[in-house]
Amino acid sequence: PAGICPFKMVLLGESAVGKSSLVLRFVEGKFHEYEVSTIGGAYLTQTVSIGDITVKLELWDTAGREKYHSLAPMYYRGAHAAIVVYDITNADTFSRAKVWVKELQHQAASNIIIALAGNKVDLATTTRQVEVADAQTYAEENGLIFMETSAKTSMNVNDIFMAIARKLPKL
Ligand code: GDP
Ligand code: MG
Repeated sequence: PAGICPFKMVLLGESAVGKSSLVLRFVEGKFHEYEVSTIGGAYLTQTVSIGDITVKLELWDTAGREKYHSLAPMYYRGAHAAIVVYDITNADTFSRAKVWVKELQHQAASNIIIALAGNKVDLATTTRQVEVADAQTYAEENGLIFMETSAKTSMNVNDIFMAIARKLPKL
């Protein structure tokens, strides 16, 4: 239909936490155990319906350039929403996610919607390093949407994108 306003959504977080995999799971319903860096191009789009409103999401992946932090503002400039991803089996990635959140709170649009995704929850029973309660508390203190996700099993993947979509301003 005409007049669908696209919303820009960026994915941020350490390399290998599963950003590209979350996008691939959400947009194409797929998961690759190895090598998904090739899909980290410019952006993918997905159209979702919320009641009778249709929202087009432009999903910006960081294209494997996480190391080049100076490029980050280019990704989140003009973004309506951000998903900051960490890997629940790697505590360093959670610390890094908090730095991203702080940067977004100071540098991005003041009304940006920020979600925190604790990815790879399918590995929770064997190799969890970040407790869900700690992430939950942090998210509540910072007004973030929070879910643990798995791009592998698809747990909470649609849910986190839809939770964001529901908070976007409706025209
Ligand atoms: P990115 O660098 O943040 O984009 O991370 P990728 O999407 O490239 O994923 C890095 C690696 O983690 C790949 O081998 C993926 O198959 C794997 N991976 C991503 N998400 C999950 C998940 O939810 N569970 C498990 N077990 N592995 C995952
Ligand atoms: Mg990637």
